[in-house]
Amino acid sequence: MSDSRPVVTRIAPSPTGSMHIGTARTALFNYLYAKHTGGRFLLRVEDTDRERSTEAAVQVIFDGLAWLGLPFDGEPVFQASRADRHRAVVMELLEAGKAYRCWLSGDELTAAREEAQAAGHALRSPWRDRDPGPPDLEKPHAIRFRGPKNGDTIVNDLVQGQVTFRNRDLDDLVLLRSDGAPTYNLAVVVDDHDMDITHIIRGDDHLNNAARQSLLYQAMGWDVPHFAHIPLIHGEDGAKLSKRHGATAVTDFASLGYLPEAMRNYLARLGWSHGDDELFSDAEAIAWFDIADANRGASRLDWDKLNFVNAHYIRLADDTRLTALVAEVFATRGDPLDHARTAQALRAIPLVKERAKTIVELADQLTFLFRARPIVLDDKSRGQLTDETRARLARLAAQLSAANDWTAESLEALLKAFAESEGVGFGKFAPALRAILTGGAASPDLGRTLSALGRDESLARLEDALSPAA
Ligand code: GLU
Repeated sequence: MSDSRPVVTRIAPSPTGSMHIGTARTALFNYLYAKHTGGRFLLRVEDTDRERSTEAAVQVIFDGLAWLGLPFDGEPVFQASRADRHRAVVMELLEAGKAYRCWLSGDELTAAREEAQAAGHALRSPWRDRDPGPPDLEKPHAIRFRGPKNGDTIVNDLVQGQVTFRNRDLDDLVLLRSDGAPTYNLAVVVDDHDMDITHIIRGDDHLNNAARQSLLYQAMGWDVPHFAHIPLIHGEDGAKLSKRHGATAVTDFASLGYLPEAMRNYLARLGWSHGDDELFSDAEAIAWFDIADANRGASRLDWDKLNFVNAHYIRLADDTRLTALVAEVFATRGDPLDHARTAQALRAIPLVKERAKTIVELADQLTFLFRARPIVLDDKSRGQLTDETRARLARLAAQLSAANDWTAESLEALLKAFAESEGVGFGKFAPALRAILTGGAASPDLGRTLSALGRDESLARLEDALSPAA
């Protein structure tokens, strides 16, 4: 095909009720390639399975792409709405002698299949060469493609290289079922042609279809688009990523606390690379992305790497946005943050976000803020509160209440100077202090913990623990 046409890519998901992370990566690659070339990225909803294609299942696709930050151009195309066009193309093929009516019934089909197998080629229906006489159009029948019996079909795949298929191995596929429904391969070819798709980037489970689809393009006299089949995503055990591995849907990653920009960066690296670059912006990904650089080997979902990338984007993220995301986590736990706690979270996030690999962890690292007073200490912490430590912490409390700078750095310096003035190491009082301040919840270093709690709350917690009644 001529390469002068502007690049048009597409993602063509079937509504199944969830968006697999592999579909997300395919969408990303199509998006990046389109943007890299100044082209367009389109969405086609392959909603031909009418039972599964509920409004909610279609919405999952829109929501998934929106969450991932992969906006498609123009209006989405709904495949089911195009069935008449698909049927019209089948009629054209029929009239051109490139398709034929086939009345094979179940038993005959099995026999024909066995016969073909014995002869060492894929299924050809006996109706292919039979003079049907006046066709009995009332009797249910399928319409099959009259594929070439000999020769090869070559797919020049941008990722897999040149892949040769023997035509004898490609059966005369059904284009229109006996109930009048167009089949997948036919609908995809007609839609991709009509949508001016120039590059089809998709999972390599469709590589065999590329051969069949190429034959259909040729039969119609249409340009065959460029194909790029990318290896599927595998789990850490090397098997194809499935529900067995836990998280597979885009929404799973969202609720585990991964940021969309981290997913974009990580998924781009999953099956494509630009030197050794692990962290890059969207603009860099667009500038660098070429589908020809996609890897041919299967890629494995590596949680450590994903966490590393996510932690990077959490550190970069705006604190107000992180606060809203953390609030969602608390809300799904049935413990929504009120106005005051939201303000506390916002103040504390800069102090704890450096250690969080996910938004869920970030939420966990904020729970110490929200412990209800008086905090009940566990036996171990109570055991640490000897008379000596109580007296020492009382002296510390006095210094803290006099401190005029409540930043983490200055509090850390105060603690250090205090330990020196007491002639003891941190170990002599820090564990008890931490328990008093947090009740054992995860927390950052003590300077940050105090700073995040604020002066009043910190001193109140100390007072609760040190008062004679405690
Ligand atoms: N609906 C197909 C799928 O989800 C699309 C295949 C294609 O991209 O051609 O696998």
